[in-house]
Amino acid sequence: MALNKNEVNTLDTDFASAESHFLNLISALPKVSVQGYDKERRVIYWNTSSEDIYGYSQEEALGKRLEDLIIPALMRDDVLSVHKKWLLEGIPIPSGELALQRKDGKTVHVFSSHVMLGEHTDSPEMYCVDIDLSEQHAIRNELEKLATTDLLTGLPNRRYLEMALEERVKKAGHESTSMAIFFIDLDMFKDINDTLGHTWGDRLLKSFADRLKECVGEASFLARFGGDEFVVLVDDIVDRQSLVNLAEEIVDCCKERFCLGTEKVFITSSVGVCLFPTDGVEVDTLLKNADAAMYEAKEQGRNRYNIFSNDLSVMLHKQRNIASRLRASIENNEFTLLYQPQVDLKSGKIVSCEALLRWTPNIAEHSVPPDVFIPIAERTDLIISIGSWVLEKACEQAREWRNMGIDICIHINVSGRELEQGDFFERLARCRENYGLPPHAIGLELTENMLIKSDEQVLLGLQEQRSMGVEVSIDDFGTGYSSLSYLKRFPVSHLKIDRSFLENAPESDYDGALMEAIVNLGHKLNLKIVVEGIETQTQLTYCLRLGVECAQGYLFAKPLAASAIQKRLECQQ
Ligand code: C2E
Ligand code: CA
Ligand code: CA
Repeated sequence: MALNKNEVNTLDTDFASAESHFLNLISALPKVSVQGYDKERRVIYWNTSSEDIYGYSQEEALGKRLEDLIIPALMRDDVLSVHKKWLLEGIPIPSGELALQRKDGKTVHVFSSHVMLGEHTDSPEMYCVDIDLSEQHAIRNELEKLATTDLLTGLPNRRYLEMALEERVKKAGHESTSMAIFFIDLDMFKDINDTLGHTWGDRLLKSFADRLKECVGEASFLARFGGDEFVVLVDDIVDRQSLVNLAEEIVDCCKERFCLGTEKVFITSSVGVCLFPTDGVEVDTLLKNADAAMYEAKEQGRNRYNIFSNDLSVMLHKQRNIASRLRASIENNEFTLLYQPQVDLKSGKIVSCEALLRWTPNIAEHSVPPDVFIPIAERTDLIISIGSWVLEKACEQAREWRNMGIDICIHINVSGRELEQGDFFERLARCRENYGLPPHAIGLELTENMLIKSDEQVLLGLQEQRSMGVEVSIDDFGTGYSSLSYLKRFPVSHLKIDRSFLENAPESDYDGALMEAIVNLGHKLNLKIVVEGIETQTQLTYCLRLGVECAQGYLFAKPLAASAIQKRLECQQ
């Protein structure tokens, strides 16, 4: 049934009064701002809350156009277009969150809904009902900040860094810009934490972060990657010299001591640098390569920077290959132990031997030198299972020799990572027991650096071994810290002087003086001296003159298979 014209008019009037009633209700709500616009988007209504949110008084706003008041320049065309579509095609403007603009230019976040009154008349009116979201936005921003900020230093955290790097990489994809990634790691920070405690450690990190911030400037992006690691992103590095300069400045940040309350702390840092896009175009690769360059700086002696190079990339590739092949090497039976005799210089007899590991991968023709694969095994923790294999094999060999009446000590090289495991001494005891060996059948070789880093637990464990008669040697003595005051504390029985000292000692006064000093010191501390790497008769005579007890080197024998050692021992009896 169709309505007549009068009835339609009455309905329209009813609707209009209901609508204006509804509008009155809404506009009376606090924090809800309502603005009305005519067909040309000129303000015809502006409630008190709109004055608060947008900063324009009613007098200022009335008669002005929507787009000249609160619409940011970038949104202008969109607003005009949706308004037009609504008027001409009846497509409503969807509700949603908008970032509008206040009188003072600041952004204001609102949830905006739109109501059209008098839609089918000549003078349609658009009403915007805006709810101020400033508080929610502030909370959201605060949460976002918390999730992306490192609480200790106030710097962006790793998550933020990865997002920022991702963004820069994407952006740079279109432009031909370059970027440098600096990976900074404090040297021996663990020692500070261990000796001074975490509170001082935290203070040091905070002070270091402040110095770094000052050094790299506002334009760079500085983040705490985690622990004692920091990353800096620097855009538009113009040439290699400026890269080198900044790397040097970063290393120099630690030149001055850090004053932390009553403590003055000296620390250094190692810095790795890589370049985008030359050294990688993905976030992961860039961070990995900068980290690898940093690691290389540590290997080269710390307190320096290292720039990622093609050589390093090739080396890393090789190392990854080796690490992946090492994984299967134990099951594949690719390891063997050789034994190098240690000779008592007074009697000229073999009294012990050092077990030296050899690895010949099944698919390779040659063995990989231990100097190459041991450091990789240590970094990947594969050394734990490899070390267990060495211990087991050495015990098995000691048992076999004992059954044949051969009673010599086999020294095994123990890696720091093995000692850190905590159950090393238990495993050693269990293995000796399984093969029915007395404590002195297996000796241990440890490096100085490893001993210095050892905690009380490890030193106690060693003490216990020593009291049972286990020989414990400091390996490569003279190449590490050589901290003499420590020597007294370590429960050791032998000092193995590194080959490098002997090489020139008979001829060079300097090396000779060092050798003599080490031998005397060792003797004063009741330690037996073993000299490594004797190759010539001159070196042997020299060692005899110094009163060295024991020697090992190619002059007597290279590392040999167990059967060859047996033959030698048979001759000696
Ligand atoms: P290291 O403990 O200092 O072992 C002595 C190294 O000097 C051995 O090298 C040995 O072959 C070599 N050498 C002995 N006499 C002479 C000599 O007269 N002249 C010269 N030029 N060299 C001599 P190798 O077997 O290549 O082992 C290298 C390093 O690998 C070892 O140094 C040790 O640190 C590590 N390593 C070897 N086997 C093991 C193991 O089972 N476990 C662990 N953790 N490390 C091991
Ligand atoms: Ca050794
Ligand atoms: Ca050695």
